[in-house]
Amino acid sequence: MPGVWRLPLPLRDSPLGHVNTYLVRADDGYLLVDCGWDTADTLRALEGHLRALDIRMPDIRHLVITHIHPDHYGLAGRLREITNADLSFHRLERLFIESRYVDADELLGEMREWLRMNGTPPDELDRLNRGSTSMMDRVQIAYPDRTLDGGEEIPCGRFNFRVIWTPGHSAGHICLYDKANKILLSGDHVLPHITPSVGLHVRATSNPLADYLDSLRLIGKLEAELVMPGHGEPFQGLPERTGALIAHHQRRLDEIVVLLGRWPEQPRSGFQIAAEMRWSRRRTWDDLSGFERRMAVTEALAHIELLHDRGQVEKTFADGEIHYLLPTPAA
Ligand SMILES: [Zn+2]
Ligand SMILES: [Zn+2]
Repeated sequence: MPGVWRLPLPLRDSPLGHVNTYLVRADDGYLLVDCGWDTADTLRALEGHLRALDIRMPDIRHLVITHIHPDHYGLAGRLREITNADLSFHRLERLFIESRYVDADELLGEMREWLRMNGTPPDELDRLNRGSTSMMDRVQIAYPDRTLDGGEEIPCGRFNFRVIWTPGHSAGHICLYDKANKILLSGDHVLPHITPSVGLHVRATSNPLADYLDSLRLIGKLEAELVMPGHGEPFQGLPERTGALIAHHQRRLDEIVVLLGRWPEQPRSGFQIAAEMRWSRRRTWDDLSGFERRMAVTEALAHIELLHDRGQVEKTFADGEIHYLLPTPAA
């Protein structure tokens, strides 16, 4: 697509391999969408891409972040120091900066208690909770110059991007859509081969999977000939991909109903349900790392809470723990 360059940046030690950033020519310089995390090799890779295009760092005048996960946002603080670019992202992502990256200890304490309430055995709590703290040093926080709400237009050279709020993978996730050129910058909302993680979090403000499925239906209606995702290659066939993601989550919801049906008299915790679900073709629950187990528990809970919301699952509290069971059929 003339006027847009995909600049993949390495994510060392991550199974994702790389994150895509997109450089768009603007009238006054360039816009960069997403920026990788804050490590020396990521910054070097970005500098290398720009040098190859004969573009100087300070030519980046605008920085838009799809969501504040470390792989999309971590470098924003450093990049703004180098380029002086103005920074924009959604107001809900702004809201989570402190809890994720400034007062992380408080959040970790809440998360630990919440994992315990959801049935995590005491001897596993530290292992599950420690998981993502190593990401903290890959983020240099930056506050936005402009917060977005969804619905804004961002004119940029030959493009005119519309901001679309797509909560689910993250509460304030946004996509950028250019109707005339039929392109969608989809961040982590729609990825070509992997299923973006959608988890219930201790500070979740809504039902994330319900939000995610709604956002998929919204995006699936767009006329986009090319989708430029946050990870993987650009692809065509947006409605097919959003349809496949919706079907995937429906299968997961069905799987949980079947699991709960096996023990009709015994309410199960989120942890127990997660441990009994299938997580990948080759690996069992015992193979998952602490971080992966926590992701599994939060993803299982996102599905269970949607079932609860739909009236397909009941939720009980006893002895400080949350359990779920199928509703008893009316006599
Ligand atoms: Zn993400
Ligand atoms: Zn990502």
